[in-house]
Amino acid sequence: MRKMSNRGNFMILVNTKFDAGSIVVHDISNPQNLRFGIRNDTNSHFAQWFYFQLSNVRGQELNLSLEGLDKTAYPDGWDGYNVCASYDNQNWFRIDSSFANNTLSWSLTPECNSIYFAYFEPYSYARHLELIGFANECENVQHQIIGQTAEGRNLDLLIIGNPKAERKVWITARQHPGESMAEWFMEGLIYRLCDEQDAVSINLLKNHVFYLVPNMNPDGAYHGNLRTNTTGTNLNREWLTPSIDKSPEVYHTRNKMLETGVDIFFDIHGDEALPFVFTSGCEDNPSFSTKQNALQQQFEELFPLINPDYQTKVGYPKGHFSSESATVGTKWVGNQFDCLAYTLEMPFKDNANLPNDLYGWNGERSSLLGASLLTMLNLLR
Ligand code: ZN
Repeated sequence: MRKMSNRGNFMILVNTKFDAGSIVVHDISNPQNLRFGIRNDTNSHFAQWFYFQLSNVRGQELNLSLEGLDKTAYPDGWDGYNVCASYDNQNWFRIDSSFANNTLSWSLTPECNSIYFAYFEPYSYARHLELIGFANECENVQHQIIGQTAEGRNLDLLIIGNPKAERKVWITARQHPGESMAEWFMEGLIYRLCDEQDAVSINLLKNHVFYLVPNMNPDGAYHGNLRTNTTGTNLNREWLTPSIDKSPEVYHTRNKMLETGVDIFFDIHGDEALPFVFTSGCEDNPSFSTKQNALQQQFEELFPLINPDYQTKVGYPKGHFSSESATVGTKWVGNQFDCLAYTLEMPFKDNANLPNDLYGWNGERSSLLGASLLTMLNLLR
């Protein structure tokens, strides 16, 4: 298919040849009716992520649509969702979008020659390397490569603080690579934890050591997958029996956890459908203990006071993961280590309690949430 359309001397061009770029072009012959679809994750049936650039569009009235969304992983994700756009690939804003007949539609007249659209504010592999590079130079940080992915990317672990500290805190993010807000969250948390003038971080590091995996799925992220690595594996269903071939990311992380022990665990995600920040704990585990219950209660009382973006009224119903529960990272960790273990979910849409029409939920708010988790941990007894 030619990814161009004729309009006088100008041709609209579609570009996805960059980190996480992904779109299927259906028809771009008419700027009033530019039609696209969503590509499946590598070797998988999951589909939801998109990220593409349109060029030669300045001053043209454009009507765009994403079609066939009943075939995506989360059809409920599109109702009430507004597309993310950027002219410079750095500053992202939302465009009012409408959803009907399994199609998401939006219109605009671009102010510049090129414009990007994405499912959520991307977090690039280049930015990941900068984050690791920053931490690598900090005095309090050990950077370890605990393994490599199927495509040979490093699986980066940052150990912040003294490994002999009383409390071992593990935080993993982006098992689902299209949930880029999870790495924005880690960025906010890591920069704060490395700030030698931040009293919360200084105090925390007296008796906590942090084991942080900012990107569990760099292959999937690079290829623009929503949910799987490039072997087509959903890493968050691999924790009971990870495989060195299909899920090396989980295999290596889990081994390291067994070596260090875990007292507190967070696995950071994004939720396509629910417009809220929420957590999912271990209460469905048969092994759920009174200790875990007391820690969860403490967390759920305090964190909404520290960061009102977090709430406990809306979340997953009991039994959400059903028969797959034991294979989910948080459930496995909670069961294995009898510790506080949470999946933390941020919205792709917005926080409906504190909505922002221009940005929706975005990278900045995710980073601030990540930084505020440290205040929470500083209070946890
Ligand atoms: Zn997820």
